[in-house]
Amino acid sequence: MNTSELREKLDGRYKLTRQREIIFHTLNSYTGHHLSAEDIYGIVHEQYPKIGLSTVYRTMELFSILAVVQKLDLGDGCQRYELYPLHHHHLICNACGKVIEIKGSLADTLDTAMDAKTDFSVQDYRLYIYGYCKDCQAKRNPSGLPESPDQNTTSRSNVV
Ligand SMILES: [Zn+2]
Ligand SMILES: [Zn+2]
Repeated sequence: MNTSELREKLDGRYKLTRQREIIFHTLNSYTGHHLSAEDIYGIVHEQYPKIGLSTVYRTMELFSILAVVQKLDLGDGCQRYELYPLHHHHLICNACGKVIEIKGSLADTLDTAMDAKTDFSVQDYRLYIYGYCKDCQAKRNPSGLPESPDQNTTSRSNVV
């Protein structure tokens, strides 16, 4: 997304203030980083000490209402943001919390599937895929043998 697209989203109802522009540029230069408001504040504040954390919060709230960013819940209890459009999905490891991005959009597929059944037109969707990353699979299953469903149940109840 570039500045003129941002202006379009602000739609004349909201000014493109210097602060909003700075925060927007920060998001642009950190694509794929899944920044929280605190992260953004940390980056922005170094160069622009006048921008406070509450300004960042308010700006991110506005940006998410205007669909400039998407809010992400990557399971670490922290609200994170990423610029629209994502063009990727998030795979989240249940063991170590690692987030892996896979490229691609399911929007068209979803749209087709929905249309046929419900006449529903898809505008937005959230997809988080949970599992175990390669490293954690190896740790959970050091023998390299395929896990049986029984073992799975045992290890899970041990954790609880
Ligand atoms: Zn992402
Ligand atoms: Zn992992």
